[in-house]
Amino acid sequence: MSTATISGDPHIQARFGELKPPLTAQAAAIEADRCLHCFDAPCTASCPTHIDVPGFIKRIASGNLRGSALRILDANILGASCARVCPVDVLCEGSCVMHRYNRKPIQIALLQRHAMDAFYASGEVPPAAPAASRALRVACIGGGPASLACAAELRRQGAQATILERRALPGGLNTYGVAEYKLRTADSLREVEMIRRMGIDFRFGVNVDSASALEALEAEFDYIFLGLGLGAMQRLGIPGEDSDGVMNALELIAAYKHGHLREAHGTVVVVGAGNTAIDAANAARRLGASTVYLLYRRSENDMSAFDFEYEHAKQEGVQFLWHRQPVAVRPGERHRLLLDTVQVRPAEGKLAPIPDSQYTIDCDMLVPAIGQSPLTRLIQELRHVEVRDGRIVADLATGRTGNPRYFAAGDCVNGGREVVDAVAGGKRAALAILKTTEAANA
Ligand SMILES: Cc1cc2nc3c(=O)[nH]c(=O)nc-3n(C[C@H](O)[C@H](O)[C@H](O)COP(=O)(O)OP(=O)(O)OC[C@H]3O[C@@H](n4cnc5c(N)ncnc54)[C@H](O)[C@@H]3O)c2cc1C
Repeated sequence: MSTATISGDPHIQARFGELKPPLTAQAAAIEADRCLHCFDAPCTASCPTHIDVPGFIKRIASGNLRGSALRILDANILGASCARVCPVDVLCEGSCVMHRYNRKPIQIALLQRHAMDAFYASGEVPPAAPAASRALRVACIGGGPASLACAAELRRQGAQATILERRALPGGLNTYGVAEYKLRTADSLREVEMIRRMGIDFRFGVNVDSASALEALEAEFDYIFLGLGLGAMQRLGIPGEDSDGVMNALELIAAYKHGHLREAHGTVVVVGAGNTAIDAANAARRLGASTVYLLYRRSENDMSAFDFEYEHAKQEGVQFLWHRQPVAVRPGERHRLLLDTVQVRPAEGKLAPIPDSQYTIDCDMLVPAIGQSPLTRLIQELRHVEVRDGRIVADLATGRTGNPRYFAAGDCVNGGREVVDAVAGGKRAALAILKTTEAANA
């Protein structure tokens, strides 16, 4: 099945309308004209993939949308999804010099999207060297942003890249995890389809999870890139958490994005205070839950979610319960859940329960969102690849691991950051693989 033919569920699309609508052609031209084209481009410096921001904006201003898109794709093959999902307030737009003059930063993400949307509408594919112009074959395990960026860079430079993905669809968390109001599943798949058309092979439903599977890949390919991401959501570790009505944040998000969960109702409690917890809480609101609590054992100041995500959740009507911890889940009436919680306070470096602070929340759904666990199954099988605290140890500049035939990047190395970090890491690993091959052949 062509990934480009998959479109979203209209019911979900209606509820998860895009947070930021695209610019019109006229608005894009006006916005592009505001850019000062700074010689030192702090926006470019703050982008992990170092997109030539002044360069692509200049091309929009002169009406050269194709040239603008190619400039973006040169640096970041996932330029379309990054335009939608990047936390630009803390990256390119956050470092725009306009802030120094108390003026609104240039809307870099929307301009990037404008150029990328025009490129996708044209049906064009970024240029690549002729297939197999290098005798180099690389297997990329995982079909998320890190592997996609690695494979695309290899392919652009004439190598063969094959992506092995255990799920039915490619794109990793871009397809299964990122909030639909930021990036629609269909848009993620459209991007992957463009990358596939560059000449990359995909094998779906292939779970590489054993030493023998790795040996088979070692026999077939010259190098192996690990773009595995992280594992399932961590468990709360409280009695009753396997009850019906408990669904972790990743399951909830994937379920609504793929049409398996169309409604939520009543009261939903999300446990955690990171960006994923916020995404799950917002999703519950948009799916129809009348009350959504985000329950966190520490304070507002300790939450790991970005400030703009916190603000967004408040606007969606999410309510926050600070210094509160779940202790047990019990069955309630008519398929409801009783979530026992307790108030906690810091004491001697730990969180201690406050006596007589028990409080039970009668809810319809409980959503644990306290971080993804490391992937353990495959990484235990890796020979000569060091794993520390559940993360693959790899050089950040090259993706090199202790095994000269294995490279790695993305969440499985950095422990979970942003899409743009995975793209940057995947591309750097591809460049290092190409350099290593050239050195070996010299
Ligand atoms: C809920 C959520 C929302 C997010 N929202 C944002 C956001 O708004 N903006 C942003 O920039 N970032 C966001 N992120 C972070 C971002 O999605 C990740 O940093 C990025 O996807 C990491 O890319 P990756 O390729 O390393 O891993 P992933 O995207 O996780 O891809 C890894 C892929 O490898 C596959 N795989 C794993 N093991 C195997 C195996 N043994 N064999 C075959 N395939 C395998 C998996 O199925 C998966 O498809 C979010 C993350 C989450 C969890």
